[in-house]
Amino acid sequence: MPNRIERLDLLISERRIRARIAALARGIDADYHGRSLSLVVVLKGAYVFAADLTRQLGTPFTTDFISASSYGAGTRSSGKVALGGTGGLQLDGRHVLVVEDILDSGRTSAAILDLLRRRGPASLALCALLRKPAAGGLDLAADYVGFDIGHDFVVGYGMDYAERHRNLRGVYRLIPGGAAG
Ligand code: 5GP
Ligand code: MG
Repeated sequence: MPNRIERLDLLISERRIRARIAALARGIDADYHGRSLSLVVVLKGAYVFAADLTRQLGTPFTTDFISASSYGAGTRSSGKVALGGTGGLQLDGRHVLVVEDILDSGRTSAAILDLLRRRGPASLALCALLRKPAAGGLDLAADYVGFDIGHDFVVGYGMDYAERHRNLRGVYRLIPGGAAG
């Protein structure tokens, strides 16, 4: 049953996100020295992040979008990762940077990296706006991370709960209402 009464607590303000993304972009520019990048943006949650990140990049890039879903309409991962839109990707010999919203268990990103690695990229790296504690125990190194956060479920800045709240300008913790309302 969806909770009818929920609370949103600001976790990361629009201003902090903007500053951090500018720093991430400077790091990416420094690392790639003007070599052209193939960005692979993971829909839907990373679309706002990607829009802001790309507008701070000096590095030339192409953009492709893939989709990944594991959560459905809940706040717990189903554990299964469904990838879409990967069929036409031409990444052979390219410097590929995957742009993700959140690393939680890391299963989604691991599945994406496994698939993209088989397309013969010259290099493959991962950029995530947020990283949760569970991702720390993984054998999955994120090359660029915006913010380390706690275990809470978050929304805003492209990220949803049952398709809502993507348009919030900051990142918010979503506190579900109790069963008694
Ligand atoms: P993982 O496979 O790393 O466990 O889960 C990663 C994906 O689950 C993320 O790309 C994101 O789409 C979704 N996810 C994980 N934590 C959250 C969260 O707190 N809020 C939202 N909206 N999505 C999340
Ligand atoms: Mg996602």
